[in-house]
Amino acid sequence: MRVVITGAAGFIGSHLCDRFLRDGHRIVALDNLITGSQDNIAHLAGNRNFEFIYHDVSNFIHVPGTVEAVLHFASPASPIDYLKYPIQTLKVGALGTHNALGMALAKGARFLLASTSEVYGDPLEHPQKESYAGNVDPVGPRGVYDEAKRYAEALVMAYHRQHQMDTRIVRIFNTYGPRMRLDDGRVVPNFIGQAVRGEALSVFGDGSQTRSFQYIDDLVEGVVRLLHSDFVEPVNIGTTREISILEFAKIVNRVSDNRSGIIFAEGSRIDGDPQTRKPDTRRAREVLNWRPRVELEHGLEWTLEYFRSVLTAVS
Ligand code: UDP
Repeated sequence: MRVVITGAAGFIGSHLCDRFLRDGHRIVALDNLITGSQDNIAHLAGNRNFEFIYHDVSNFIHVPGTVEAVLHFASPASPIDYLKYPIQTLKVGALGTHNALGMALAKGARFLLASTSEVYGDPLEHPQKESYAGNVDPVGPRGVYDEAKRYAEALVMAYHRQHQMDTRIVRIFNTYGPRMRLDDGRVVPNFIGQAVRGEALSVFGDGSQTRSFQYIDDLVEGVVRLLHSDFVEPVNIGTTREISILEFAKIVNRVSDNRSGIIFAEGSRIDGDPQTRKPDTRRAREVLNWRPRVELEHGLEWTLEYFRSVLTAVS
């Protein structure tokens, strides 16, 4: 297949490039690099099956030649990124998704949307099943991302229903691994950066809020299986091992052998920061025969190794 990946220089996008190339496909990678980084795909330069186009997909997308699949992963995705780029976030979810769908329609390509657990907002149902419609504040600080992704899902279903387009929607829960940006503000790079520097880990609030962290390779496997399935409704991909942020900090300190402890940054939680988050993954198990394989402690060790090398390179 010739596969277009938007947001290809991002954390998830770049791992998808690696996987699809390994599986023998050709990649057209699009990114405007506002939150992605060329470093994530530098190792692919010179690969004749890999082509990079510097482009903001909120503008019309022109890709010459045949395309069999479009994977739309372009978007700021960390809370501090989408607070910094609120309008670009709304535009890429709305206009970017529209352009990517339009291109896929013109090419007769299959389309896969990267959606998010954020469509459930601060959930009142626990764990979150795909049938749960969510609890999102449209005018809250996270509204720019949550509503953009909710709109993107609606648009994908409209293309499916009106044009009979072959579409997929993956709802991605917290994912971590090598190539996250050290300064993207999310809890994993923050904690690991602090641990590698021997600093105390900054737990926002009292740390009782929960998340479920999956390793990037498990997510990529889920995306590949979903793309190759015939399942049109959204599918959650995430791990069901739910832990509090305080517990997570302790695990990071243990795995990294960091003796500097934890500090509580009381005022740092962003309004609307969900108190709980855990996917119901029955659908992924039944439809895709998918389940996460990587233990948190192992994934964290590999991620630590990556961040150590990045920090050594900059110092
Ligand atoms: N968090 C934290 N310390 C940090 C960064 C984040 O305690 O240095 C908390 C944050 O308040 C949230 C959780 O960790 O409750 C996960 O935040 P992240 O930004 O990684 O992603 P989210 O799941 O909120 O989209």
